[in-house]
Amino acid sequence: MATEFDLIEHYFKPLSTGLCDDEVGIGDDGAVLNAVDKHQLVVVTDTLVSGVHFPKETCAYDIAWKALAVNLSDLAAMGAKPAFFSLALTLPYSDEAWLKEFAKGLADLAKVFKVPLIGGDTTKGPLTITVSAQGWVPTGQALMRSGAKQGDLICVTNTLGDAALGLKFALKTIDENHGLSEQDVAQVLEALNRPMPQLTMIKLLQDYATSAIDVSDGLLADLGHILEATNAKRALDNQVTNPGEVVKPALKAKLDLDRLPLSLAVAQYVQQQGCWSTVLAGGDDYELCFTVAATDFVEMRSLADKLGVQLTAIGVCELTEDKPCIEVYKGDKLADEDVIGEVKGYLHF
Ligand code: ADP
Ligand code: MG
Repeated sequence: MATEFDLIEHYFKPLSTGLCDDEVGIGDDGAVLNAVDKHQLVVVTDTLVSGVHFPKETCAYDIAWKALAVNLSDLAAMGAKPAFFSLALTLPYSDEAWLKEFAKGLADLAKVFKVPLIGGDTTKGPLTITVSAQGWVPTGQALMRSGAKQGDLICVTNTLGDAALGLKFALKTIDENHGLSEQDVAQVLEALNRPMPQLTMIKLLQDYATSAIDVSDGLLADLGHILEATNAKRALDNQVTNPGEVVKPALKAKLDLDRLPLSLAVAQYVQQQGCWSTVLAGGDDYELCFTVAATDFVEMRSLADKLGVQLTAIGVCELTEDKPCIEVYKGDKLADEDVIGEVKGYLHF
């Protein structure tokens, strides 16, 4: 029977590669890592709990991939280049076949971005995976949620809603395939289980974006976080320049459903349903949502294109005297509630 230390040595130590000779990864009480001059360290952590963040039936490879991917996605949203990560793994029992697959999923994604595993913890209990990742960003260039400006375009990378549709198939909460081909179903399941963090975008975000977030909870919720953080910062900045005065107007977002980038599978599903809630409220896409000055968008989009990332402007930030909200349009008309689906056309904070 392998001990905890055998498991670490066998499955996780091999992922502790790529460190400098004077750095220490797995094996001592702590990792020792070199700092990078004129950079700030961005630190993120995300926990995945079986049955909560992924269906219980999810294979070990995909669980590991996702646990690392969601953390790297947070680094991407901050404009930070991943440097290393650690893993706290809680397992109900030691299953070597499961661990082998898990370590493979972790290794495969770590290899894509050359990010070493530098330590962690292994405990017994209900299956829970906590990854913490760290990345470097040039001092002062980390991207916040709070920097959106009046007139900025709201943009997203690639397509939205694929993972949410994939989840419906994974959980078997849809009873027919809605005319989707086997290939379509495989594609949305892949989006759910193997999200690819948008790290190729970090330099462009640093250079062009005014705020950013990764789409983990759903487009409306995450864009809501940008507005919330931006308006809180506007109020705070205003307190410094005009003490005692309430800042007005605030920033709101206007989205156009007709502009949302959809894969063929999701487009077909939305058309059949006649409602957009899967795209607006479905989480797990791990695409980036960010704001950029309208005058910079075309240049940024063509640079992203060269990196193989599709950028789409889906809306605009405007000032409002009312409560800040997200207004959802279909073309030039406000969308009806039944078109939007279970999520409201605007969210008040
Ligand atoms: P300690 O008792 O000092 O906390 P541990 O016995 O928990 O140390 O861990 C021994 C070494 O193995 C440490 O370097 C730790 O970071 C690493 N480690 C433990 N669990 C994991 C894991 N799941 N993934 C990667 N490294 C791990
Ligand atoms: Mg320990």
